Amino acid sequence: MHITSVGVSKWCFLFSLAFCGLLLLLIPALQPTPRQLDLPQPRAQLRPAPAAKASTHGLQHAEALEGSVQGGDPGLKRGSTWQGMPTETQVARDGNISPERDTDSQRNPEMGGGKGLGDLGVRSYGQLESKDIFIAVKTTRKYHKSRLELLIQTWVSQAKQQTYIFTDGEDKELQLSAGVNLINTNCSAAHTRQALCCKMSVEYDKFIESQKKWFCHVDDDNYVILPSLLKLLSSYHHSQDVYLGRPSLDHPIEAAERVKSDGSVSVRFWFATGGAGFCISRGLALKMSPWASLGNFISTAEKIRLPDDCTIGYIIEALLEVTLTHTHLFHSHLENLQKLPTDTVLDQVTLSYGGFENTRNVVGLVGGFSLTEDPTRFKTVHCLLYPDTYWCPKLKGGHRH
Ligand code: UDP
Ligand code: MN
Repeated sequence: MHITSVGVSKWCFLFSLAFCGLLLLLIPALQPTPRQLDLPQPRAQLRPAPAAKASTHGLQHAEALEGSVQGGDPGLKRGSTWQGMPTETQVARDGNISPERDTDSQRNPEMGGGKGLGDLGVRSYGQLESKDIFIAVKTTRKYHKSRLELLIQTWVSQAKQQTYIFTDGEDKELQLSAGVNLINTNCSAAHTRQALCCKMSVEYDKFIESQKKWFCHVDDDNYVILPSLLKLLSSYHHSQDVYLGRPSLDHPIEAAERVKSDGSVSVRFWFATGGAGFCISRGLALKMSPWASLGNFISTAEKIRLPDDCTIGYIIEALLEVTLTHTHLFHSHLENLQKLPTDTVLDQVTLSYGGFENTRNVVGLVGGFSLTEDPTRFKTVHCLLYPDTYWCPKLKGGHRH
């Protein structure tokens, strides 16, 4: 009996030791893994900032609206020339384009501008179809007649299923006659930062809902050359982190980012100007969700007090640390569109137009329409791309230009 009780105590003692040892081993395993903690955090960069001078789509808005923007040193990141044609190095196309995003080559797989994608040797994933692309057009009620009708008559007619027009007022007539996806955002019709961000916020949510692979945003003064867009996006995979567009500055924008306790830190990032259009892969768009979905876009924009296109750049470059892939295939009317070589116009991804009378800024393309008949040149472009369109002038001998 005595012997048995000593034996039991000994076993109890050994068992307790083993149990404590096991507990010690388990403690680190119960800690959260670093993965669980690593939601991307804002990357504030504290650097002195010289004053900005350049005027961009985003900056024009920023300056007009509030002006919390400062310029930065050129060349902090690899970049593009301001508003102009690409530099020689940018135009140098090596035909060795990699859609992977690990080297410099990811930055300029399609720095065309001199020539289009045709001779670029761009790798293609092959299966991308136009229905996989969500094209958001931002407009406002007062431009339905003067701008939107032209788009609907031209490129939108070729992409009705994937084009979504975001406006701020009812237009039953347009909806019925055109059979387009017209979305009334109920955002204010004012040209304010808040109103523009409100529209972008709805665009983002509708894209996520759509399950499409690519989100592309354009303004109502852009022509989208659909075959070029498809070709460009085919060289990436929608599950990669891809943000494609044209910067309007040759340096990153520097903004004051509001932080808690009323302070602010300086943050710098590239952004693609909304006036030239930009595209985002679904993979990246999903990662933007904490700052972009369900109204969060508006509060994110409030943090930096900048317009919609800058806020997109802020979320992607500053918060998610994904770099903008600079491309010169997108065009806004802030650049001199006359400088675009006419034989490359149809290879571009987006075009635009600006100012008529004395300051006409349109692509220098000649075709079946005079400048009076087609002041924007969009009809001319359209008829070169789709010569069988019923309203296009029939060319002698039935040839395309
Ligand atoms: N826009 C808008 N609400 C307005 C004025 C303009 O949504 O009150 C849209 C317009 O339809 C266009 C974009 O904002 O898609 C840019 O407008 P605009 O071309 O007039 O200006 P800019 O290109 O000079 O910035
Ligand atoms: Mn414009």
